[in-house]
Amino acid sequence: MNGQINNVSEKERLLSPKRIIAADVTTGKTVWLTDKIFPQHFYPLSIKEYCEAIKRGVKEGFSRIPILSVSSKDFPYCDFNCIDCLACPSREWAISNSYIKYPVIPIDTYKKVLSEISRYSRIRGCDSVRFELCGEGNPDLYRDRVEMIKYATQECGMKIVYVSTGSQMSEELIECLAQYAFCIRISFPGINSAAYDFYSHQNSSHTFEYEDAINLIGKLCKKREEFRRSGELLIGTRTCIRPLNDGSYTNFIRTIGEFGVDAFQAVKVLTPEYGKHQCENMSRKAISELLALKECYREFGISSFQIPNDLTKIYNDRSLREDSKPTRCWSSLVSPPLYGTNLICCVLWDRITNPLYHYGIMEGRNGELEELMNGTNAQFIKENCPKNCRDCCAYNDNKFMESLWRVLRTQENIDNIEFFFEY
Ligand code: SF4
Ligand code: SF4
Repeated sequence: MNGQINNVSEKERLLSPKRIIAADVTTGKTVWLTDKIFPQHFYPLSIKEYCEAIKRGVKEGFSRIPILSVSSKDFPYCDFNCIDCLACPSREWAISNSYIKYPVIPIDTYKKVLSEISRYSRIRGCDSVRFELCGEGNPDLYRDRVEMIKYATQECGMKIVYVSTGSQMSEELIECLAQYAFCIRISFPGINSAAYDFYSHQNSSHTFEYEDAINLIGKLCKKREEFRRSGELLIGTRTCIRPLNDGSYTNFIRTIGEFGVDAFQAVKVLTPEYGKHQCENMSRKAISELLALKECYREFGISSFQIPNDLTKIYNDRSLREDSKPTRCWSSLVSPPLYGTNLICCVLWDRITNPLYHYGIMEGRNGELEELMNGTNAQFIKENCPKNCRDCCAYNDNKFMESLWRVLRTQENIDNIEFFFEY
């Protein structure tokens, strides 16, 4: 299995488009386009599946939109103690009250839930749901992880995206991910030894260090070769742009590029209290290094390089202005996260901790998703999101889906509209 068509790998095909257009195939006229296509964000799906889902919604009604992607927060404990960890308040809440039925999901229940999600989406046109495992802690520590991944891929046709520091990956898990996952993204709290140590802020006597993380990257790339999956398994890295990383980006990119890593992503630090930090600027050193790398990252063997568009503030501003709110939260329809077995509208802290914003608790019953996605809470979510959302964690997704929906609903014959990538 190497995912090659005409010598172009599936991975390359998904990482290289420059924009997507919606065109009327009877007239050749382009009716909509965007160059904000975020390949790493959607991989191993692409923005095209999201466009098709909106088209289906316009044509057949919103209840016919499939769930395309689920981010599963299935393990609320972590061996790191990162500065700025966003998960801490919500996981304490999840563990200490009864709204989250299973902060750690029993494997038999998990399997039923996976089957139900894939059934729901399959009959709505999506055969391969993107299933992202990111814990709400360290996903490596979930005891039945290998069994869960094998079931999701082999029995449900899901495409696994695995996000972790990798600090607790067993040999068995490494082998399983190299064989079955479509994306492995290793999070680096820092991209040099001192920054890693400082920002991961580990308390234990057996710390996982920067060098361990780099060795893990090498091991994952080697395993991927052994399974001949370099054409479809994306291996990426992610870090936050923070002061102790300044001056280390080039060296880091060179190091991971030599191993065969595909993708690098540097993001702004997230905080629920952006207002308190809005005067903190990114350093000139970081800005100039990242902009220089943006021009030459391919020379280091990296295929996808993603940095924020606006490199001024150090913290990420997710506030949602009244005049830019979409008519509905599209993202809660196509990519609702799972917290334990609770299906939620999004991953914002104040949404996780308010059960009104939960579609409900999944048991894995056949047909239960039709009930949950149309139930009382679904109605509440529809009426209140984004109307009563102050920040939005899916701002870009909602923006492009809203603009596409506005165009598609005015088309005389929507069957004539098809989507094409431009390279
Ligand atoms: S690794 Fe992730 S979940 Fe764990 S402490 Fe760090 S930011 Fe939080
Ligand atoms: S914050 Fe954004 S993603 Fe979350 S419910 Fe509101 S509109 Fe949807």
